[in-house]
Amino acid sequence: MKPTNPVFTGLETTIFETMSRLAMAHGAVNLGQGFPDVDGPEDIRQEAARGLIDGPNQYPPMLGVPALRQAVAEANKRFYGLDVDWQTQVIVTSGATEALADCIFALVQPGDEVILIEPLYDCYLPLVQRAGGTPVRLRVTPPEWKLDLDALAAAFTPKTKAVLLNNPMNPAAKVFSDEELSELARLCVEHDVYAICDEVYEHLVFEGLKHRPLMTYPGMDTRTLRIGSAGKTFSLTGWKIGYITGAPNLIEPVAKAHQFVTFTTPPNLQRAVAFGLAKDDSYYDWLAGDLQSKRDRMGNGLRALGFNVLPCDATYFLTVDISDMGLGATDVEVCRRLVEEAGVATVPVSAFYGADAPVNFIRFCFCKQDHVLEEAIARLAVWLQHPEQRQAQAQMMAAAQARGQMQG
Ligand code: PMP
Ligand code: GLN
Repeated sequence: MKPTNPVFTGLETTIFETMSRLAMAHGAVNLGQGFPDVDGPEDIRQEAARGLIDGPNQYPPMLGVPALRQAVAEANKRFYGLDVDWQTQVIVTSGATEALADCIFALVQPGDEVILIEPLYDCYLPLVQRAGGTPVRLRVTPPEWKLDLDALAAAFTPKTKAVLLNNPMNPAAKVFSDEELSELARLCVEHDVYAICDEVYEHLVFEGLKHRPLMTYPGMDTRTLRIGSAGKTFSLTGWKIGYITGAPNLIEPVAKAHQFVTFTTPPNLQRAVAFGLAKDDSYYDWLAGDLQSKRDRMGNGLRALGFNVLPCDATYFLTVDISDMGLGATDVEVCRRLVEEAGVATVPVSAFYGADAPVNFIRFCFCKQDHVLEEAIARLAVWLQHPEQRQAQAQMMAAAQARGQMQG
C-alpha cells in the first residue's frame, strides 16, 4: 500500500495521552497530562447547559459568536490595555491547538523558517513541518530557563517568517522577562517577522507577577497573533474553546485556514465562555491564588522527599531535576517506574524537545485536589523510602485496578 503522510505517521501518540493511558492501566494518581480534576465555575457550566437546551444549536458565524468575540476584545482592553475591534480582530477556534494550526497554516509556506523555543509544546514541530516550514530551535536552559539573547538574535535570518512563543511557558513554568520580550519584539520588527504567541496560561501566573503579551510591545500589534484558551482560564479543558487576537490583515488569512480546519466551534460553549470572561477580578485572583497554593503544597512535598524542584512562576506544572537521585538512567525510565511501581503518573520533559533533549527532568501537574496531591506525595514517599515495599505496592495497585475494572 502507498505510504501515509510521514509528518504525522512518523510520530508517537502524544506523551500526554500515553501517560494518561498508563495512569489508568496502573491505577496511578495522574499528575501527567495537564488538566484540573475539578470542573470550572458552575455558573459558566449552567450558562452552557441553558444554551444547549434553548439553542440555537446550528452553525454559528465562522469567526465565532459575536458575544464571545466582543468579550475577547474587552478582555484584551481590561487586562492588557489593547484596543481591539471585535469584528475584524478576533476569531474563535476549537481550542488553542486549532488556533496554532490555523496561524501556522495561514502564515508559513515551504522555505520559511520558524523560530521555536525549547522546551516546546508537542504540536508545534509537526504543525510547522506539515506547513512545509523549517523549524529553527532555540533553548531556554534550566534552572532559570533564561533566554540567551545573542542566540536569539543569531536565529533570525532573511528566511525567518515567524517566531512561536509560549508565554507563560509549559513545562518550564517561566514568565518571560521584560528584557527578553523587548529584545524579541525588536528583532521581529527589524527582520519583519510575525509572532505567534501561545498565551493559554496568561491568567495562571503566581506571586503577583503580571503576564504581559508580546503584542503590547512597540511595533508588535500589527505582526502578532495572540492565542488564549478557555480550557485553562476556566478549568474546562475538555471544552476546547480557543481565541486569537490579531490585526485585521492577519486575522483574515487565519480565518481562511480556520474555515477548512473546523469552520466553527459549538455556539453554546462559546456563549458560556463569553459570560466567563466578563467575571470580575475576584475570579481571576482566586484562580491564580488557588493554583499557587497547590504549587506550594506539591513543591514542599517533593522537596521534603529530596527532589530538586525548579522555580515555578506560572502554569499547572512543576519540574524536578532527577540527576543524582539514582532512580533511573533517563527521565523516560524514571517516569515509567513512577507510574508502574509508585503509582504516580508524570511526564518526561525530554518529550518537549525536537532532538538532543536533556533526560534529567520530569514534570508534575499540580492542578489537582489537595487530597490527590497528598496521596501522590504519600505514594512517592513509600516508594522512595521503603524500596522493600515497592513490589507489594505495585501488586496492591494492580489488584485494586483489576477489581475496579471488574466492577466498572
Ligand atoms: N498550548 C500549550 C502551551 C498548552 O499547554 C496546551 C494544552 N493545554 C495547549 C496549547 C492546547 O490548548 P487547548 O486545549 O485549548 O487546545
Ligand atoms: N497541555 C496539556 C499538557 O501540557 C495537555 C493537552 C493534551 O493532552 N493535548 O499536559
